[in-house]
Amino acid sequence: MEEFSKALLLWYNINKRPLPWRDTSDPYKIWLSEVILQQTRVEQGMSYYHKFVENYRDVFSLAAAGESEILKLWQGLGYYSRARNLHRAARMVVEQFNGKFPDNYDTLIKLPGVGSYTAAAIASIAYNEPVAAVDGNVKRVVSRLFAITNPIDQSGTIKTIKKITGEIINHELPGEFNQAMMELGASVCIPRIPNCDKCPVAHYCEALSKNIQKDLPVKVRKVKKRTRYFYYFVFLKGNSSMLMRRGANDIWEGLYEFPLIELSGEVPGDKLMKMATDKWGIKTDAIKEIDITHLPKHVLTHQNIYATFVKVLLSEDPLKLVLNINKGALSDYPVSRLTEIYLTQDKKLL
Ligand code: SF4
Repeated sequence: MEEFSKALLLWYNINKRPLPWRDTSDPYKIWLSEVILQQTRVEQGMSYYHKFVENYRDVFSLAAAGESEILKLWQGLGYYSRARNLHRAARMVVEQFNGKFPDNYDTLIKLPGVGSYTAAAIASIAYNEPVAAVDGNVKRVVSRLFAITNPIDQSGTIKTIKKITGEIINHELPGEFNQAMMELGASVCIPRIPNCDKCPVAHYCEALSKNIQKDLPVKVRKVKKRTRYFYYFVFLKGNSSMLMRRGANDIWEGLYEFPLIELSGEVPGDKLMKMATDKWGIKTDAIKEIDITHLPKHVLTHQNIYATFVKVLLSEDPLKLVLNINKGALSDYPVSRLTEIYLTQDKKLL
């Protein structure tokens, strides 16, 4: 295993991408990068990392920020619970640890939004603790190196992979080792057809020796997608518009959006308008103009959303809305990517 580790680290030192969080041992910046990069490509996450480091230089400034401010900065990155947990964890570090990041895996994992992978990444990179950080890339690499044919999305297999990675980790340079394994998965041992001819550890790879590398890893779990129909009402009266804040236990918690009616399918326009006027107490003779925009299917990991934006010009305010704002302030509010797409299309609103 020593030879394996040597070959991997040598390759990593020559081939690693020069990423900004690799120049630091500051646990705050490492934590930020790890949370931002969960379920996100490096190219997409990079600008967000810079924005967060520039706006919040340390955990104190992040903890002191308002949640809406953080969600606004996070806008477009998706999986907004990450942003909310980032904020909660920053507050916890400030309140319970006097602003000093916990320096070991067992304490790090207690922070909101920090799972076993993130805790291991921070502990190994910032504090040299020899704990294996097993993300999707590492699972794929290990499943091939050890020719694991059991599905890698089953808990027993994940446990095995974690155990193996914990056994092969380099104890002198655990942070480098973890990053090298992830880099190998991201650039060489890639999904479907790995670049085995460029692999520094091909000599140790059981899948390659059996010529089954393209068949691994095996996955069984299929995500069953939910289909939703969102009808947003963009009420405009003079210079005002109306927004609402999404509640808990659903996507986009804490983000702002236009008043919404969610239905299980498509409905005719007149029926829809009747629902809207009843719901928000709008008199029909106060409606001056209606303009309907259908957006293409909006795809999330577990949901497909068909969204329609109904712009309604009114001569008087609806009776039952919560947040009446100046139209020009719409871009100040954190919104979902879906609403952002609509706002970008309808330039007159911004
Ligand atoms: Fe992955 Fe191929 Fe390297 Fe094996 S030899 S670890 S399959 S890239």
